[in-house]
Amino acid sequence: MQEDGSQVNLDFVRAIVAADSKSNKWDGRVVTRFPPEPNGYLHIGHAKSICLNFGIAAEFGGVCHLRFDDTNPEKEEQEYVNSIIEDVRWLGWDWGEHLYYGSDYFEQMYEYAVQLIKAGKAYVCDLTAEQIREYRGTLTEPGRDGPDRNRSVEENLDLFEKMRKGEFPDGSRTLRAKIDMAHPNLNMRDPVMYRIVHAEHHRTGDKWCIYPMYDWAHGLEDSVEKITHSICTLEFENHRPLYDWFLDELGAYHPQQIEFARLNLTYTVMSKRKLLRLVQEGYVEGWDDPRMPTVSGMRRRGYSPEAIREFCRRIGVNKFNSTVDMALLEHCLREDLNKTSRRVMAVLRPLKVVIDNYPEGQSEELEAVNNPEDPQAGTRKVPFSRELYIEQEDFMEEPPKKFFRLAPGREVRLRYAYFVTCTDVVKDEAGNIVELHCTYDPATRGGDAPDGRKVKATLHWVSAADAVEAEVRLYESLFTKENPDEAGEGEDFTANINPDSLETVTAHLEPSLAGAEPLDRFQFERLGYFCADAGSRAGKPVFNRTVTLRDAWAKIQKGQKNT
Ligand code: ATP
Ligand code: MG
Repeated sequence: MQEDGSQVNLDFVRAIVAADSKSNKWDGRVVTRFPPEPNGYLHIGHAKSICLNFGIAAEFGGVCHLRFDDTNPEKEEQEYVNSIIEDVRWLGWDWGEHLYYGSDYFEQMYEYAVQLIKAGKAYVCDLTAEQIREYRGTLTEPGRDGPDRNRSVEENLDLFEKMRKGEFPDGSRTLRAKIDMAHPNLNMRDPVMYRIVHAEHHRTGDKWCIYPMYDWAHGLEDSVEKITHSICTLEFENHRPLYDWFLDELGAYHPQQIEFARLNLTYTVMSKRKLLRLVQEGYVEGWDDPRMPTVSGMRRRGYSPEAIREFCRRIGVNKFNSTVDMALLEHCLREDLNKTSRRVMAVLRPLKVVIDNYPEGQSEELEAVNNPEDPQAGTRKVPFSRELYIEQEDFMEEPPKKFFRLAPGREVRLRYAYFVTCTDVVKDEAGNIVELHCTYDPATRGGDAPDGRKVKATLHWVSAADAVEAEVRLYESLFTKENPDEAGEGEDFTANINPDSLETVTAHLEPSLAGAEPLDRFQFERLGYFCADAGSRAGKPVFNRTVTLRDAWAKIQKGQKNT
C-alpha cells in the first residue's frame, strides 16, 4: 500500500499473498521461509529469494523463518551455517526467534514415514540405486514395479526399523513411496524417501543412519512450521504434485507452494557446486573472494546491503527464466555508492611531479569536499607540498588531439589545489618517463584562476611525503564470457575464467585513508569505488576496487532511448 492508501503494482507472488490476506485464507497469517541447504555460501541468487521471502513477511505483517534444510550429512557443515546466518543478517533481515533446522524434525519425519507404511503407502525396497534408475523408465516409457513393491506392512515396518537401527550397510535398502510406476511425472514413480548413510551429521551426530531425501523432507518442514506461502524456484513446479501427495496422504497441514524464476546473471556462475569448485581448485582465494557472486564476496568487494536489496527490487519476480545483465547490478551499486561514499584522492600508478617554484620544506592544507551528493558529509584537509604524485596515464609527452590532460607546456588544475604547468620531463636511461617538473600559480589556490582563465582538465594527486602506501586490488569479472557455461568440446566453465581478473598495484593514498577501517567504502576520485579489505590493517592497508565509474547500464538505457 502507498501512503495515500492506493495499491502499487504487485508482483504475482505478492498479489497472491495480498489476495489471501484479504480473503483471510490463512486466518490472517503470513509465514514465509528461506530454506538454504548449508552446503555452501549464499550467493546473489539466494539474495533474491531472501529479499522476496523476508520482504513479503515484513510488508504483510508476517514472519519469515530462517530454516536450514540440513538433511544431507555428507555435504553440510557448521561453517556454512555460520556464514548463512551472518549473510542474511548483513542483508538486513531478521528472523526473530524463528531459526529452525530440518534435522530437528527427523523424529517427526520418521513417524510420518511409519504412518505411510501402515497405510500401505510406502515400502522398503532392496534395489540398488542403479536398479532403481532402470526400473523408473523414461519420459517416454513407463516404469516397472520392483520386486519388493508388494511387501506386507508388517515386513516393511520391521525392515524400516532395522534400517534405522543400523542393521544394513549404506545403499543396501531404501524406503519408497508407493504411488505409481507408470505416472507421467517421473517424480511420482515411487520416489525414494529414505536412504541409508552411516555418516556423522553436523547437528545430530551419529544418532541417525537413515536420512530423508529432499523431496520427502522439504514439504514436511514447511508443514511442521505451518508456512503459509512456500515460495520456491521454477524447477520445483513438477515436484509439487509429490509434495501434495505426501501431505494429503498424511492428512498434514498443507502450505501453498508458489514457484518463481531463479536469478541468473551474466559473466558469472551461480550453482553452489560450481562455486565450490572455484574455491577447491584454487581459481579464487575462498568463498568470500571479492570476485565471487557470493554475498560474502560482494560484501568484501564493497557492496552495500542497500545496493543488493535495490537490485533485487528492480529485477522483480516472475515466472520466466532469464539472465540479468551484470551491468544492472553494478548500476544499482554505483547509485548507492555515489550517494553514500566519501570522496578521496588516491594514485594507483604514480608519476612523480616536482613543483619547482614551491618552496622546499613547505607544505599546506587544502580544503576538499567529502561528498558533493551529501552536504552533511562536510570537508576535510589534504596536504599539498613540493613533491606530488599524479596518475601516469594523466600525462602524455606527445598528446593526441583529444587528450586534454597534462603535457609539456600545458596548464591543468590539480583538484582542490592549484593550476600547474608542465615545464620539463625527466627520463631514465631506457627512455621511460620517471618525473615531471611543473610550476604552480599561487593565485589559483583552491582551484580557480582569479583572471578567469580556464583549463581543460582537473587531475587528482597526492602529496608524496604524506602519502600512505597501500596494496590495491583491481578486480575484473571472473569470466570472459557472458555465459561461462558455453564452453568448447571437452571443456567446462573453468575454460572461460578470466586470467586477468585480478591486478594488484601499490598505490599512494591521501593520508586520511590511513585510518580506514575494514569494509569502509570510498570513491577514489576519477578512478572508481574502493573499499578497505576485510584484512586491511593500519600498518598494511589493502583496498579492493569495488567497481569503476563507467556505468554500462546507463549507456545501454540511453542507447535504447535513442533507437
Ligand atoms: P542446490 O543446487 O544445492 O539445491 P540451491 O541454490 O538451490 O542449490 P538452496 O540452499 O537449496 O540452494 O537454496 C535456498 C533457497 O534459495 C531455495 O529456496 C532456492 O529456491 C533459492 N535459490 C537458490 N538459487 C537461487 C537463484 N539463483 N535465484 C533465486 N533463488 C534461488
Ligand atoms: Mg536447492
